[in-house]
Amino acid sequence: MSTILFSKSFLHKITTIIRKFWWTGIQEDNPTNPIPFRSWNDICQSKDNGGLGIKDLETVNKSLIIQAAYNIATEKSPILTSVLKSKYFSNKSFWTANNNGPKSIFWSSILQVKKELHNNVIFQIQVGNSSIWSSPSCPIWEDIHNHLLLQVTTNPLPSKVSDLWMPHSHNWDNNLLIQTFDNTAVNEIIKLHPVPNTDQDILRWKPANNGTCTTKAIYNHLASNQIINLPSQGSRSITPQTNQILKRAWKMKNLPPIIKTFAWRLIRRALPTAERASRYSTQPDYNCAACGNIENDAHLFFQCHLPRAVWFSSSPSVITTNLPYEQDGVQLILEQVVMPLNLDDSKFATLLTTMWYIWKARNERKYLGKKWTPIQVSSIQGSNHLQQVFGNTIAYPASIHTEGQLPQTNSFRITQPALIEGIRCYTDASTSPDQPTQSYRHAGIGIFFLVPQIHNN
Ligand SMILES: [Zn+2]
Repeated sequence: MSTILFSKSFLHKITTIIRKFWWTGIQEDNPTNPIPFRSWNDICQSKDNGGLGIKDLETVNKSLIIQAAYNIATEKSPILTSVLKSKYFSNKSFWTANNNGPKSIFWSSILQVKKELHNNVIFQIQVGNSSIWSSPSCPIWEDIHNHLLLQVTTNPLPSKVSDLWMPHSHNWDNNLLIQTFDNTAVNEIIKLHPVPNTDQDILRWKPANNGTCTTKAIYNHLASNQIINLPSQGSRSITPQTNQILKRAWKMKNLPPIIKTFAWRLIRRALPTAERASRYSTQPDYNCAACGNIENDAHLFFQCHLPRAVWFSSSPSVITTNLPYEQDGVQLILEQVVMPLNLDDSKFATLLTTMWYIWKARNERKYLGKKWTPIQVSSIQGSNHLQQVFGNTIAYPASIHTEGQLPQTNSFRITQPALIEGIRCYTDASTSPDQPTQSYRHAGIGIFFLVPQIHNN
């Protein structure tokens, strides 16, 4: 990437592989194409602009070559520069090297980006060692020969910037300038303000605030031309408030990357809910595997039986029937849940993690036939996954008794996730299925009290 400027078609092929991997993961046995719910351009935007901050390969490639060109121009690697100089510009400077003649792929790549480098650099004049005639020492250097006064009376002609100064100073020799150049050139030259020290002149990258030329600074400049303004409506839109939620998630150090990426897919309407995936399917199935209603984001995460119970028993409790109705996405709902509650970081992380578990429960139900209960979703957050994230503040979940397996004592003690506050009571009752018989049938009732305690040791 840092030695060859690749063709657009080659980089496009590599990008296709990366894009497919991002949407599907490794699926060697699955030759089908993924459904990219968001465009690669949207994904390559910065995280502040609703993207994932993935670098665009073409821009990365170009930035690396520009950096290499800068290094040659400034002789960062003297051996490399002298090899190239002897082969391609022995009687000239890097800036005035010819484009014609046979050349290596590397040198050809350098020549292709030279104009871009030239447009964005300027010398910071210090000791004045840069050439007046063959380096970007002033804005009009390229046609400075045309500004020479004829007949030339200055002898010898100045060659470097310091030759235009009064002896032993950094001040312009106005008489010399007027005798040598026309007014246009003189005006341009005296606009330059040399930094009075004895260091070599430095080639500065103009778009960077500190003028330092790094690959990152070059990339940022090139990428700034590709910033997309997301629309305010439609599936690509993102409200400013929801973008704040997303940005907060990205910044949280202790939130696992999988939850952050999930939050991005949720907010950017890129999760394959049945309703969304069906738009691209030849055999559409719009319905929720749990209840048969149309499965969109709002249904899946807030309105179906499982999420309703999970949110009702969460802390603070959320009654999902009061939430706004959203056809596509959950941006308004998230604003309503997150903003008014003014959640601290821990609860905010719990909210996103709970949604991830609801998504996991949905997928396991749909594809593995495994049924999750609300308490499993709520309490599994205390298990290994989040324990690694939040440390010891979280304990293990309750064991769950199956039918016919009674507890040994009338009560049993558990440690509960510290995330759930307050005393709560869960109840459940059941009977055997109706049968055409007059005999007694089994019935059962279960009551479960939860009194979370905070352990200091
Ligand atoms: Zn449902």
